[in-house]
Amino acid sequence: MSKQLFTQGLCFSCTRCSTCCRYESGFVFLTKKDANLLATTVQVDYTDFVDIYCRWVPMGQGREQLSLREKPNYDCIFWENGCSVYEGRPLQCRTFPFWEALLVVPGAWQVAAASCPGMGTGVLHTRDEIEAAIIRQRTEPVIVRFGGV
Ligand code: SF4
Repeated sequence: MSKQLFTQGLCFSCTRCSTCCRYESGFVFLTKKDANLLATTVQVDYTDFVDIYCRWVPMGQGREQLSLREKPNYDCIFWENGCSVYEGRPLQCRTFPFWEALLVVPGAWQVAAASCPGMGTGVLHTRDEIEAAIIRQRTEPVIVRFGGV
């Protein structure tokens, strides 16, 4: 991984503008821990949580990943005047913008920052914090299934 981008740390403080949770289609992939925590938060069992709040996203070669659903207007299923499950929000949301893809792919951080007013401002997150976020994403894999089972 290229550490150049965050050797000195990176500034980020979410302004809760909701740009990343609304308006456009996207995926919020879930880990097992995410799904269990969200199911507890909305007080349904795991199976009902998947049926009601999730969708399986085809990733090719029979692989599907579990993502939160969106509303018809593309708002996150949990967006209600802000994140209605903030304390139980998924790892993907919790670790944004310290995603490997944004830190490693040349120019990706700058592209994301163009639509996120929180990136590049606010709290300085140290290199150690950023690396810890990346390691968490690597060690808590998203939920997958193959062949619809
Ligand atoms: S776009 Fe950035 S500032 Fe706005 S809600 Fe998302 S993370 Fe926070």
